[in-house]
Amino acid sequence: MADRDGVIWMDGELVPWRDARIHVLTHTLHYGLGVFEGIRAYHTDQGPAVFRLPEHVRRFFDSAKILGMTLPWSQVEVAEACRQAVRENGLKSAYIRPMAFYGAEGMGLRADNLQVHLIIAAWEWGSYLGAENIERGIRVRTSSFARHHVNVTMCRAKANGHYINSMLALQEAVACGYDEALLLDTDGFVAEGSGENFFLVRDGVIHTPELASALAGVTRDAVMTLAREAGYEIRERRITRDEVYVCDEAFFTGTAAEVTPIRELDDRPIGEGRRGPVTADLQERFFAQVEGRREAHPEWLTPVA
Ligand code: PMP
Repeated sequence: MADRDGVIWMDGELVPWRDARIHVLTHTLHYGLGVFEGIRAYHTDQGPAVFRLPEHVRRFFDSAKILGMTLPWSQVEVAEACRQAVRENGLKSAYIRPMAFYGAEGMGLRADNLQVHLIIAAWEWGSYLGAENIERGIRVRTSSFARHHVNVTMCRAKANGHYINSMLALQEAVACGYDEALLLDTDGFVAEGSGENFFLVRDGVIHTPELASALAGVTRDAVMTLAREAGYEIRERRITRDEVYVCDEAFFTGTAAEVTPIRELDDRPIGEGRRGPVTADLQERFFAQVEGRREAHPEWLTPVA
């Protein structure tokens, strides 16, 4: 990943990809206190366009605020830098990764002279959970690791350190032969995947966990909006693991995962063990939307050029 051509936006400058380095005493590397985003730009007839850029940038600033980190840029500047990172790398479609972190100006938890640095990288990234799984669906395992408690880490923040929990869960699921983990909250209710929000469908009604220990996903919000506009009823509420076993359809949403059907949980087929009609319908609406093939919500696409 480090050894490739291209440029990375680093503290306001475009640095050759291979030279975008940091010191080993970088504070965030030691303690995990940093914030990041995952954003996609899609190929559209009007050229590459970033999906819901202002919403992602806003969450980035919210995350920083929650962690008490002051970002020395405006939201407009960060949004512009994201567009620049896609443009300067000549990408037709992209995954964009802004990250703000504390530098190596001091060490220890009490360091008070730390500078906040910002990098924005962009590269081509296909289907995160496998192109074939967008149609076939994935096999999921309930994790033995609970999702964050709201008062242990701050779940609204997309913070670097939170992903220890995600990676423990994902490593366990993959080692056991599954594609992804489903994490329950500390009360035992369904929270989310390691990097995705969760939905189920039963009798035509869509259900998704309330935003307590799950991240406020931008894709979650987009899919809920598209679903409501298509006339589906959506209920946000606590969901139990056995409800998932007996639902008709289930799927994950996320910037990386997009809309990915779940065909199995804990070796029990979901519905008929393949993508269901509601999931397929929402996928169609979602992909048409992000690729600029729908007239609704033009405000969700920000051209890169
Ligand atoms: N939950 C977690 C833990 C995530 O990392 C992500 C990816 N950012 C999501 C949910 C989905 O959020 P979004 O749709 O904004 O990418």
